Amino acid sequence: MIDVLIIGGGNAALCAALTAREAGASVLVLEASPREWRGGNSQHTRNLRCMHDAPQDVLTDAYPEEEFWQDLLKVTGGLTDENLARIAIRDSSVCRDWMRLHGVHFQPSLSGTLHLSRTNAFFMGGGKALVNAYYRSAEKLGVKIRYDVAVDRLELQDGRFIAAYAGTERFEARSCVVASGGFESNLEWQREAWGQINGEWVVDNFAIRGTRFNKGVLLKFLIDAGADTIGDPTQAHCVAIDARAPLFDGGICTRVDCVSLGVVVNRNAERFYDEGEDFWPKRYAIWGRLVAHQPGQIAYSIIDAKAVGRFMPPVFPGEKANSLVELARQIGLDEATFMNTINTYNASCRVGTFDHTVLDDCHTEGLTPEKTHWALPLDTAPYYAYAVKPGITFTYLGMKINEHAAIHFGGVASPNLYTAGEMMAGNVLGKGYTAGVGMTIGTAFGRIAGKSAAAAALQGAHRAAA
Ligand SMILES: Cc1cc2nc3c(=O)[nH]c(=O)nc-3n(C[C@H](O)[C@H](O)[C@H](O)COP(=O)(O)OP(=O)(O)OC[C@H]3O[C@@H](n4cnc5c(N)ncnc54)[C@H](O)[C@@H]3O)c2cc1C
Repeated sequence: MIDVLIIGGGNAALCAALTAREAGASVLVLEASPREWRGGNSQHTRNLRCMHDAPQDVLTDAYPEEEFWQDLLKVTGGLTDENLARIAIRDSSVCRDWMRLHGVHFQPSLSGTLHLSRTNAFFMGGGKALVNAYYRSAEKLGVKIRYDVAVDRLELQDGRFIAAYAGTERFEARSCVVASGGFESNLEWQREAWGQINGEWVVDNFAIRGTRFNKGVLLKFLIDAGADTIGDPTQAHCVAIDARAPLFDGGICTRVDCVSLGVVVNRNAERFYDEGEDFWPKRYAIWGRLVAHQPGQIAYSIIDAKAVGRFMPPVFPGEKANSLVELARQIGLDEATFMNTINTYNASCRVGTFDHTVLDDCHTEGLTPEKTHWALPLDTAPYYAYAVKPGITFTYLGMKINEHAAIHFGGVASPNLYTAGEMMAGNVLGKGYTAGVGMTIGTAFGRIAGKSAAAAALQGAHRAAA
């Protein structure tokens, strides 16, 4: 019998697999996707957030434990377990040496990514290179990997893992780590979670920024089996992305990052929120939800020539026109309303000293909604429009765990069933987000789950032999 069964093939699963194997356990990984799509949402990532007390290779300055903790406290509004959060934070100061041993390379933060050189270590080649390195290392260490195996149920006995099933195939193991992500690509479940607004199903124009394989099958199974949950099922990290993005796997290059440099109008050619409320890295994650609540779940980010070069250009070019009326026509908005919206905005701009790197004094006066920073009139051709729709990054609902990453049933920790990554991230990140923390949590608890599962399996094997 295999010692440790790992369900999932992203960062958390691979960290668990490698750690369990290093501890001497035999390991089998079951990944739902085919080999070419392996790596879940982790393949789309770029960096992880790391605590450090002094400059460290690619990280500048210092990012002490307390500051990391305060950042988490702020973004989650207190919806975080301090003990588990500090475990992840502390692990982030040492995990990179282990990651390097398994072939991951780092690079300084990329230009165009604001304020991250101090806090976040970037993966050379991105998340795809990271998961490929882990798969290579796992194979070298003798971890068995099966692709195209979507586990659909578990066999449990009083909270103890016995076996997993994919259709009629049964996988027995002494212990198990479930690291099969959230339920963001289960559109039915998303529909249920978001519901209807003004007679429209909110999710109908959504795209899933990551993998199509995170359908939450085991999340649902475990909930039905009585596992203790954490996190709000109706909450998801949701950003505004290019409306031409594919339904799945558009990744980071479909993000539209020019919102704070112009105005955003809905299908009725009306503004609906302060585009300059705060720095873009602090606000991008609210715009998905804002657009989700607009008619047709669509909006248009409008800029003029002055904004070009001040944001990371998205993968698709915007609609371009030499006049605003022409632009309105090209994107199919009512020209008169559009011109009225832009002219009113332009007239209300009180331009001071424009500076996109600070909360500057360029703002509107007497406009609803106001634009509180970086408000410059749209007056320089050519003009550009990017249609945007909501893009779901990940969901927050997960399993409640302890410091050994054990899944709980009615408050009792399972003796041999563990979880890591998005499936338990809600323990640390009850809501909100701070860049790079998903990989911090997955790496820390992936390694913990792998260690725990190996210990449970090897103890069990020892007992059986005695
Ligand atoms: C576009 C994008 C960019 C991101 N950028 C960053 C970033 O730069 N830094 C950061 O920290 N976070 C980032 N995130 C969030 C990050 O991706 C997640 O926090 C992290 O990858 C979660 O890891 P995981 O292993 O839990 O899940 P995943 O990597 O999603 O892995 C889940 C795995 O489970 C498999 N699976 C699902 N169901 C089953 C089943 N029934 N049976 C078998 N296998 C199954 C899937 O195929 C997949 O391999 C980003 C997310 C997206 C979508």
